[in-house]
Amino acid sequence: MEMLEAMVRARELRDLLNYHSRKYYVEDSPEIEDDEYDKLQRELVLIETQFPSLITPDSPTQRVGGSAQGMFEPVTHTVPLESLQDAFSLDEVRAFDARIKAEFPGAEYAVEPKIDGLSVALEYENGVFVRGSTRGDGNVGEDVTANLRTIKSIPLRLKRDIPFIEVRGEVFMPRKVFARLVEKQEENGEKTFKNPRNAAAGSLRQKNPGITASRELDIFVFNIQRCSEEGITGHKQSVEFMKELGFRTIPICNKVKTIDELVEQIEEIGGMRASLAYDTDGAVIKTDSFAQREQIGSTAKFPRWALAFKYPPEEKETKVTDIEVTVGRTGVLTPTAVFEPVFISGSTVSRATLHNQDFIDEKGLRIGDTVVIRKAGEIIPEVVRVTAHAPGSEPYILPGVCPSCAAKVIREEGEAAVRCVNPECPAQLLRNLIHFCSRDAMDIEGLGDSVLEKLTQAGLVNKVSDIYTLKKEDFLTLEGFKEKSSQNLIDAIERSKGNDLSKLVFALGIRHIGQKAGKILADRFRTMGALMNADLESLSQTDTVGGIMAQSVIDFFSVEQSRREIEALASLGVNMNSLKEQIDDRFAGMTFVLTGTLPTYSRNEASEIIEKYGGKTASSVSKKTTYVLAGEEAGSKLTKARELGIEVIDENRFIEMINN
Ligand code: NAD
Repeated sequence: MEMLEAMVRARELRDLLNYHSRKYYVEDSPEIEDDEYDKLQRELVLIETQFPSLITPDSPTQRVGGSAQGMFEPVTHTVPLESLQDAFSLDEVRAFDARIKAEFPGAEYAVEPKIDGLSVALEYENGVFVRGSTRGDGNVGEDVTANLRTIKSIPLRLKRDIPFIEVRGEVFMPRKVFARLVEKQEENGEKTFKNPRNAAAGSLRQKNPGITASRELDIFVFNIQRCSEEGITGHKQSVEFMKELGFRTIPICNKVKTIDELVEQIEEIGGMRASLAYDTDGAVIKTDSFAQREQIGSTAKFPRWALAFKYPPEEKETKVTDIEVTVGRTGVLTPTAVFEPVFISGSTVSRATLHNQDFIDEKGLRIGDTVVIRKAGEIIPEVVRVTAHAPGSEPYILPGVCPSCAAKVIREEGEAAVRCVNPECPAQLLRNLIHFCSRDAMDIEGLGDSVLEKLTQAGLVNKVSDIYTLKKEDFLTLEGFKEKSSQNLIDAIERSKGNDLSKLVFALGIRHIGQKAGKILADRFRTMGALMNADLESLSQTDTVGGIMAQSVIDFFSVEQSRREIEALASLGVNMNSLKEQIDDRFAGMTFVLTGTLPTYSRNEASEIIEKYGGKTASSVSKKTTYVLAGEEAGSKLTKARELGIEVIDENRFIEMINN
């Protein structure tokens, strides 16, 4: 390659890599597969090796991942959170080993799976978790302490109160949790996360820790960044030490010496990947001895004593025999590719979601095509690309009518999903009923998919409110029901009438209104009547209820049928009020931020009091904050409050406000 040509291509690659890096690290929404990204990056490395003068300090080959985005407070890492050098072949592993052994012939390695999540640092003082941050660009990350606190496997207090320790770990979303989340997003016609790594990153970098908590993230801790304890001399020993302190460490960490043992370990971990409960994208090889590490040193981006071996993604070719379309609870039509069964990453698969018309168009997929399949995050089958069209095939277009009720379907502006909006569509009715009765909604035990299907088929339930007109005799007419089981169901239905308003709001299945939003709306409006009549402004001013959610509530209640259903439910005895105690509304419209330790109240107690008087609490200080209630050792929130000129009160003043 000539210098000029190399220069042009290097610039092109840098732009491309920077674009995809931003999509990946900042927006948590990558557009290309990791191995495609890695290929582009390797091409740039090759050019830069051949023409070192083309290396720029901002080249993606010279710096670590993302950068702090201003959504959170910046945290400067005392010890940088480095990246890892990649290897894509065993030859590269052999070359790495030769380099290390040339310097330290007796060197030993620790080999671990490379967890595919996002890197965080956790700091502890006197055994107490005080701060957690993302990697960012390796030197400056984001303070996500509140969100990390919601991850149950992160100890808030260590088993031993050592003066200080900072560890590094990988936050990830277990595969099962990811599968459930994607299913829910698909059902709601929302944008789905591409893989568990993205989902973990998107869930951790949330303004509202409640969302993080609901995503069931997990962590594996794999490194001591700094520590007051002396006498730890190697990696494997440090892992044992972290385990003793109460950290969840990577379950697989084996020490090896020779290159043959090393290759064997890499292959063994490769063989396990499909059956693990979490995603891995490689094996990490680390020189075990800390003294040797020190001498080997680091480059600007990664340590020279470690290597990440990346496994190639498993891909298979197959033929698409059909495209099936199903209707979800919210009326979204979801196309699924049905293909000749293939064995891939540990199981046989024959179906893959095609998401929507845009996805089909992008891939150019037609029935009969030969396609390449892989498992996203080793779990969810997906169509990667079309390799050949079937002779005489035509572009596939989703049906213009609902496959369940034949009503005309619509595609709203700016939306990828096509929906059936017929409120009486049977496919939607059944899914709505299932949602209505589910545990987090009205929690009617025993009224699950199969019973509801029987009830709808028998014509006993045609809308949600019909559930409350059911009699014991109705169940007795269904196959498999006896006196006792029928009575149990009647009792469960009766019990659900007393549920809090928040459960009912969620149960109605209003688009974009999940469990958490249901609670917030119920707390704010307190009665179904007030919620039904709320205007767009008061809805969108409600904490965390954005414009889209607010409009969705308005749309739902503007349909005559929804209002009739609410009336029917009320007349059948279903509770329409918030059961949460409220004393008066002196704090209505006010937002408190709590910081530091209060002399008498715990944070939970203070939040409860605020809510009982109609106020809200938020986790961070902004212009919308009314008061910052500060106790001892209040930190950055106090500084921020002063910067923004927000009134800061102490507990005494708070008690005065309540007693007045
Ligand atoms: P990396 O993620 O490949 O490797 C470094 C990370 O591995 C560390 O941050 C660490 O947190 C983690 N890790 C997991 N298990 C570990 C263990 N046992 N020991 C040590 N570290 C462990 O490197 P990177 O620089 O963060 O990101 C590059 C990756 O991101 C590549 O795989 C690339 O394909 C992907 N990427 C993809 C896109 C895209 O558009 N698809 C864009 C940018 C980056």
